[in-house]
Formats: sequence, structure tokens, C-alpha cells
Amino acid sequence: MPSLSLNKNQSRVIVVGAGIGGLTAGALLAHRGYSVLILDQALVPGGCASTFKRQGFTFDVGATQVAGLEPGGIHHRIFSELNIDLPEATPCDPACAVYLPGESTPINVWRDSQKWQEERQKQFPGSEPFWQLLTTLFNASWEFQGRDPVLPPRNLWDLGQLIQAVRPSTLITAPFTLFTVGDALRLCGLGSDSRLRTFLDLQLKLYSQVSAEETALLYAATALSVSQLPQGLFHLQGSMQVLSDRLVESLERDGGKLLMRHTVEKINVENGKANAVVIKNQKTGEVWTESADHVVANVTVQNLVELLGENAPSGYKQRVAKLPPTSGAFVVYLGVEKSAIPADCPPHLQFLYDINGPIGENNSLFVSVSHEGDGRAPEGKATIIASSFVDFTPWWNTQDYEGLKQKFTQDAISKLSQYFYLKPETIIYVEAATPKTFAHFTGRESGIVGGIGQRIPTFGPFGFANRTPINNLWLVGDSTHPGEGTAGVSYSALTVVRQIQAQN
Ligand SMILES: Cc1cc2nc3c(=O)[nH]c(=O)nc-3n(C[C@H](O)[C@H](O)[C@H](O)COP(=O)(O)OP(=O)(O)OC[C@H]3O[C@@H](n4cnc5c(N)ncnc54)[C@H](O)[C@@H]3O)c2cc1C
Repeated sequence: MPSLSLNKNQSRVIVVGAGIGGLTAGALLAHRGYSVLILDQALVPGGCASTFKRQGFTFDVGATQVAGLEPGGIHHRIFSELNIDLPEATPCDPACAVYLPGESTPINVWRDSQKWQEERQKQFPGSEPFWQLLTTLFNASWEFQGRDPVLPPRNLWDLGQLIQAVRPSTLITAPFTLFTVGDALRLCGLGSDSRLRTFLDLQLKLYSQVSAEETALLYAATALSVSQLPQGLFHLQGSMQVLSDRLVESLERDGGKLLMRHTVEKINVENGKANAVVIKNQKTGEVWTESADHVVANVTVQNLVELLGENAPSGYKQRVAKLPPTSGAFVVYLGVEKSAIPADCPPHLQFLYDINGPIGENNSLFVSVSHEGDGRAPEGKATIIASSFVDFTPWWNTQDYEGLKQKFTQDAISKLSQYFYLKPETIIYVEAATPKTFAHFTGRESGIVGGIGQRIPTFGPFGFANRTPINNLWLVGDSTHPGEGTAGVSYSALTVVRQIQAQN
């Protein structure tokens, strides 16, 4: 059996998965004195926020922009505690330039609040009451979240943490707990403003997985407001990988260990308590069981049920089985000549092509473009990454997977050509990722990405808890509150670390 050097005198924690959620939990636990072992089945850490290199280009696999780097932001807080440098980053301004079908001028989501207010008043006349409601809810929710509530609570300690985060100002959010964005639009007399609704559908699909009609209002208030100062979105210098690399550095400095290409095949449970994991070393094929005091699962809730097998509590299993279908992603990665990029191209753009078509399935594309000197492309060249949410089922059922991938790739390039100058002479490198690719490289069942969707029955107080029904088994990552994104999963990691500490 390989020696994993888990220190027998310290409380031992095994973390399944080195995504941003698992790395953050592992690094914090190691820093707070636990003996930590992180296992990941992939070649490089970072999961959906990792990168790969081809022909001199560096491509971000999934996540391309980061929230929470400002003072008080979650990455900032965690990096300060770990005493590691925050990655260098440039603010995204606009955070996104959104092009609706047939329109040649974008809706610019500016970083400056005043400028964004002027833009939306110009773009969506009469919509200010809706935005003001969002701002009010955001201010209250943001302060509440900053006091580290545990959501949803599962025992008295969790409940205590939740209650201590509530202030009189939080109560303003209470009547809106069961509201969707669609309800708020109707409340503000904007139910039939189809242009505003299309814009919201597009933006919310990125953050909540679902349309404005379904997205929980309290979630949307945060998702639609963090792009403005004093918060804001950032583009990391170098690549997204820097986030993971710094967390690994911190983990190892504090005595923790990360083993890549090690798959956890099973989580063992005895007397209602997780006590070990079964590990397979992919290089040698060796399989063994490693015991632990706590197991932190940085996987999707669907994967967690798989890992528990017959130990999964039946109620939990049924709840997961009944979740509405979640999306996969199709992503095309292009290495191009700089001449393919229009002058003054913003770093992030979103396009909708057919107003009657779906949001996703290449009918909408979220695009991230590198800029000179950001470390992603050789001089005079650039990267373009375009992603779209897709139904994952056809990708697994088709008889002609390569044909479908080719078709999606060509279709995406042809749509991108309406904005970028994409010709054989400007395209240097093309690669695409499908739900099958994500399943392979991130281990996520069926290649689903982005969490469980922020509908009323699955967001915040009604979502999946970090504290699972099995003692000493914890869930971190985008299936839990506050949802997808590197900032979101870092919150979930911090919550689990506090819960473990409170127990020991
Ligand atoms: C196309 C796309 C674009 C996105 N854009 C953004 C963005 O711009 N900004 C943003 O903040 N977020 C974005 N996101 C979301 C963000 O990337 C994720 O929410 C976040 O990175 C998820 O982190 P995680 O730690 O929960 O899980 P993951 O990143 O999925 O990490 C889980 C890790 O666990 C490992 N693993 C799984 N099962 C096992 C097992 N059995 N044994 C061992 N290891 C295992 C995997 O290999 C993986 O490394 C995007 C996602 C996608 C797909």
C-alpha cells in the first residue's frame, strides 16, 4: 500500500477532487492544522477552471472570468488567510458586451454603477424600478453572505451561523424568497418587455443555468450585480490555472498532499459515518483503501451518490434522481492571428443569433477573447473561446459523435465570423470540447456543468447542504450554495472548513 504520509496525530481529511472547491477546502484545512490529502483523477488540478496548452496558445477550459478578487471578496479573503499572493488580474469593463439578434450595437454591462445605470436606462426604458429592486436585494444579500451564513442549515450549529448573519436589513429579502425574476418583472409592470427579458434570459443562463422565468430572484440579484464596483469581474493574467497553482502551493507549504491521476472509486461508510475512500492509481492500476476522519467530496451531487453506492441514503438518492435535467457545455477554442479580432474588442461578449431559437445549443455564444500581453497567446496572436450550454443527451446517444462535434464546431465558427474576421488565413488552431470531453477530463457525470440550476426549489435555503446526511462526509462545489463559479465554490469550501472545525 502506498504511504500517503497522513499524519496520525492530526485529524485526517481526504478531499475527493482538486477543483477550486476541493483545493480551497484542502488548502484552508492544511493551514488550520489538519492533515490533508487531495486526490484528483485528472492530469492537472483546477477541474472546470483549469487550462491546456496547444501550439503556443493557452486555453482556459471553462471558467474565464473571476469574481471575488476585490478586498472583502471571497478569493481575496481566502488568499489573505493563506498568506499567498492574489493572482494579477485586469478588471473586465464592460463585464460583458451583449449582442441581441440583428443588432450591431451591444448592451454594455459597465463596471461603473452610474455608467451601467445610464446604459440600461437607454437600452430598456422604464425598467429602472426592476433594477432598483435588484440593487436593494443585492445590498442586503451581499452583506448577509459576507457574514458567512450556513445555507441550508442541517443542525443547530448551522442554524446558529445562519441566525448570526441575519440583521434587520436582511429582512427586506424575506418576502422575495419565493419570487422568480419573472415574478419581479411582472411586479414592476415589465412582464411584456420582451427585449429586457431576452437580455436577462441570456445573462442568467450563464449564471443560474435557467431562464429569467425560473431563476430565483434573490440569486439573480447577486448574479446580475457583482459585475459593478466595488465588486466586479476580472480577467486573470497568465491563465485561470494560476488560481489552482497558488492553492496547491499553499496546500503543500502547509504539509498537505495532492495526488493527480488518482481516482476515488468509492466512499466507505460505517455506522452512518464516512471513514475511508477506495483509491485507484491510474498509472499503476493499484487499488487501496485509505482511512480518514473526514471526507470532503468536491464532486457533483450526482457523482456523490455514485461514489456512495449502496451507502447512499435512499431519500438523498431520490432527491438527486428527481433534479431537473442539468446542462452540458459545448466549447470551441480558437488560436487566431490578431487581425481576426476587431479593434477595441471587449474581453467578454455574448451573442444571441435567432430570437426564436433556444438560449444555448450554439444559438447563443459566450465569448472570451485574450488581449495582448495577457499570457495566453504568442505576440501578434490571440485566443477566442466560445461556449454554449447544450443538452448533454445527444452527445452520448449519437452514432456519429465526431460528425456532431464537427457540425457544432463549424456552426460556431460560422456564427463567430459575423463579428470576428475568421478565415483560413487567420485561424491557426481549432479544438472543441463537448459534454463527453468534460465527463472525461473533469469526471462530472454525463459532462454536466454549472451546478444544479438556481430555481426556487434548488437555490440557497432549498438547495443541497454542504453537510450531507452521512456524518463526516461533506459536499463542496457548484452543486451547493451559493452555486457555480470559482467564487461560489470557494464560499462552499470555507463553509465546510468551518463546519469541520466546529465539530472537532
Ligand atoms: C464552459 C464553462 C464556462 C464557465 N465560465 C465561468 C466563468 O467565466 N467564471 C466562473 O467563475 N465560473 C465559470 N464556470 C463555472 C466554474 O468553472 C465552475 O463552477 C467551478 O470551476 C467548479 O468548481 P468545482 O470545484 O465545484 O468542481 P470541478 O471544477 O468540476 O472540479 C472537480 C474536480 O474533481 C475531480 N474528480 C471528480 N470525480 C473524481 C473522483 N471520483 N476521483 C478523483 N477526482 C475526481 C475532477 O477531475 C475535477 O478536477 C464555467 C464553467 C464552464 C463549464
